[in-house]
Amino acid sequence: MADASGEVTVEQRSPARIDARLVAPALAAWLTAGLTVAWSSWVLAGLLWAASASAIAGSWALARHDGLSERRARWLVLVGVSLAAAALAATMTAGQFPVRHPPALEEATTASRHVELVAKAASTGYPGARFFSATVIEARIGTETTAVNVPVLVFAEPSERIPIGARFSIAGVLSATDSGDDVSYLVFADAAPRVLAPPTPVLAWGDALRSGFAGIAAQLPSDGGDLLPGLAIGETSAVGPDLDAAMKATSLSHLTAVSGANCAVIVGMLLALARALGLGRRSRTIAAMVGLLAFVVLVTPGASVLRAAVMAAVVLVAGIGGRSARGLPSLCVAVLGLLVVDPWLARDYGFALSVAATAALLLLVPPLAARLRRVLPAGVALVLAVPIAAQLSCQPILVLLDPALPVYGVVANLLAEPAAPVATVIGLFACLLAPWAPGPSLFVAWMAWLPAAWIAAVARFFEDATGARLPWLGGVAGAALLAVLTAVALAAVLAPTGRVRRGSVAIAALLVVVIGTATAVSSITERMSRPSDWEFAACDVGQGDAMLIRSDDQTALIDTGPEPDPLAACLDELGIDRLDLLVLTHFDLDHVGGADAVLGRVDRVLVGPSGEADDDALRERFAAAGARVEQTVDGARGTLGELDWTVLWPPASGVEPGNAASVALLVSGGQNCGCLSGLFLGDLGEESQRRVLASGRVRHVDVVKVAHHGSRDQDPRMYRATGATIGLIGVGADNRYGHPTDALLSMLAAAGTTPFRTDRDGMILVSAAAGGGVEVWSEQPAAVGAAG
Ligand SMILES: [Zn+2]
Repeated sequence: MADASGEVTVEQRSPARIDARLVAPALAAWLTAGLTVAWSSWVLAGLLWAASASAIAGSWALARHDGLSERRARWLVLVGVSLAAAALAATMTAGQFPVRHPPALEEATTASRHVELVAKAASTGYPGARFFSATVIEARIGTETTAVNVPVLVFAEPSERIPIGARFSIAGVLSATDSGDDVSYLVFADAAPRVLAPPTPVLAWGDALRSGFAGIAAQLPSDGGDLLPGLAIGETSAVGPDLDAAMKATSLSHLTAVSGANCAVIVGMLLALARALGLGRRSRTIAAMVGLLAFVVLVTPGASVLRAAVMAAVVLVAGIGGRSARGLPSLCVAVLGLLVVDPWLARDYGFALSVAATAALLLLVPPLAARLRRVLPAGVALVLAVPIAAQLSCQPILVLLDPALPVYGVVANLLAEPAAPVATVIGLFACLLAPWAPGPSLFVAWMAWLPAAWIAAVARFFEDATGARLPWLGGVAGAALLAVLTAVALAAVLAPTGRVRRGSVAIAALLVVVIGTATAVSSITERMSRPSDWEFAACDVGQGDAMLIRSDDQTALIDTGPEPDPLAACLDELGIDRLDLLVLTHFDLDHVGGADAVLGRVDRVLVGPSGEADDDALRERFAAAGARVEQTVDGARGTLGELDWTVLWPPASGVEPGNAASVALLVSGGQNCGCLSGLFLGDLGEESQRRVLASGRVRHVDVVKVAHHGSRDQDPRMYRATGATIGLIGVGADNRYGHPTDALLSMLAAAGTTPFRTDRDGMILVSAAAGGGVEVWSEQPAAVGAAG
C-alpha cells in the first residue's frame, strides 16, 4: 500500500539524523497525565509551571551572566520545556476533573440515589448487548435538573438499536469507576433506554452506511463474513468470542480495530488516485486529508479512531521511514496534542499500542529493512520489516495485558497482512455501495470475503499450533524486561560496528539464558510446589465465580463461571471428575454460564430462587442428567466430608431473584478436624449483607469469598465480622466494571484480610498450614506481592 502512493519510499541512504528533542516533553506529558487522571491537582500543575518557568529563565540568565556553555543551556531549556508539557497535562486534568465528576452526580452516587439521565450514545447500543458507552448531558436527581458533560458506561439492554450520536433517556443508579478510568460512572439502568432524538445528519449518514454494510456482511458465511466489517470499518460486533480469542492469540486483532493501518490504506489509495488524476503534491495531500476526515466520520469519531487518524496523518506527513528525521517530531506533537485534548488516553492500551506501532514504522523499519536487504531482495525485506518492527515495539505493552509471547505472531502477521489492505479497500467499497445498490454491494462484499476468510483461517491455524503461547513474566517487571531484551537484541542486529554487535550479542544471549532458565525453573517448581492438600480453590474463569471446597474425598463447587471451557480446564488440572455438591448462588451468566462443563457429573444441586424460564430450564437439565436439584433457603444444613455447611441466605420469601437472593454458605469443621472455615457470599450487595449480619450467625472464618467480584456495594462490617485471613475474589482481567474496586479493597485492608484475585493470581489454592494458620498457593506467584 505504501508504494502505491509513490509518496512513501524507504530511505536507501544512511539514515538521517533523528531529531529527538520533543521525546522528553511528550513522555513528560504522558507520565503526568497518567498520574493526574487519578489524582488531579491544581497545586501540582502550579508547581510544574513554576519549575518550568524557572528552568527556562535560569538557562537564559546563566547563559548571559555566567557564561554557561551553549550545550548546557540547551539542556536546561529542554528540562524547562518538558516541565511545561507536564504542567500543561496536569492543568488539563485538573480543569476537566470537576467537569467529569459534577457534585450532583457524586452525591447521587454515594447516596445510591435514583437518577434520570439524558445522554448521547458514544458507541452503538445493540439490542441484546449488555453495555455501551455514552456521554450524559443532563441529569435529573429528585426535582433538580443539571446540565453536565460526563462520559459513562451504560449497562442496559436496548430494545432498539441506538446509533452513535442519538439522544436517549435512561433511569437507574450510578456506580463510581476506579479513579483514572476513561468513564466517570457506570449507569445501571432500571429499564431499556428510550431514544429521544436521532443523530445529526452527518453521524446518521455514517450509521446508515455501517448498519447497511453489517447487513450485507451478515449474508456472507463463516468467519470471513464476521470479520469483514471489522477489517473494512472497524465494526466488530459480529466477531464472536472464540474468533476474537484466536485473533488475539496470534497478534492479529489489530487488523479489526480501526487503526493507523486502516487509515494509512485509505490515505495511500487516495494519494495514488490523486496522482493518477495528475494533481500536484499539495492538492494530493489535501485530497488525502479530506478523505481521511470522511473516513473518520464513517467509522465513528470515537477516541480510538481519532487517535488512529492522527497517527495516520503523522505517517502521511513523514512517510514510512522516508523522512524519519521529521517523523519523530510529528509523532511527539501528535502525542502531546492528543493528551492535551483527552488526558485519559494516557492510560489507554490502544493509545500506547498505536504510538508504539507508529514509532516502529518511522524509526525501526528503515534500519531493519536495510539489514534484511543484505540477505533478501529489497521488496521482501520491506514486507518482512514492517510486521517485525510492529511486533517488537508493541509486545512489551501487550505483555501487560497477557503475560505471554505469541510465538507465531510475526509469521501469522506476515501471512495475514497482505490480505488486510485488500479486504479493507474492497470492503469499504462494498460499504459505500450498500445503501444505494444492495445487490452489487453483496457481489463486491463476496470479493472482500476471500481475504477476510483467509485472515480468519490464519488466526485459527496458528491458535491451535503447539506452543503458540510462551509464558512470560507479567506486570511492569515483565514489560520492562522484555523491552530491555528487545533493545539489546536490536542493537546486536543493527549495530554498525563489530565490537558493539558482539557485545550486544553476548548480553542478549546471557539474558535469554537467564530468563529462559528462570521461567523454566519457576514453572517446574510451581507445579511441584502446588499443594495436594488444598481445601478451598478459586478457578480462574474470567469475570465470574467458580469456587471449590474439598474435604476427605468429597468436593463441592460454588458457581460455574461464565463459560464451560475454563471451568473444565480447572477441574481437569485439579483432577476432579465428580462433584458431590454444586451450589448455583443465583442465575446470572457469570455464575451459571459454565454449567455445561459439569452437567451429568453432579450428585446434588442447590439453587436460589429462579427468576426466568431459562433458570427453570437449567434446573431441569441438571435433574435430567441425574442430579438431585433443590431450591435452598436460609437455615438449610449438610455435610461435605468432615465439613459442615449452613445456608445463611436467602430467606424463604421477600427477596427478588438475582444478586440480592444469592445463596450464602458458611463452611466449618468440627473440633478435631483441623479444617479451615469459610464464608461464601455470592453476589450479595450491601443491603442483603446487612440483613445476613443481623441474623447474628456470621462469625470469624479463615477464608471469605468476597461478594460480587469486589464491587463497591458492600457492607464493611461484614468483612470486619468475618475477620478472614484470606479474601478470594473471582474477577476477570481488565473487566469493564472496575472490579475489584478500591472501596472493597480498603474494606478488606481494614479487616486485616489479604485479597487474592483470579485476574492477577490465576488459580488460587488455600490449605491449612501445619502449625495452624492458612497457606496460599497461586498460579502467578509473581503477582502475589502486588495483590497482597
Ligand atoms: Zn456475578
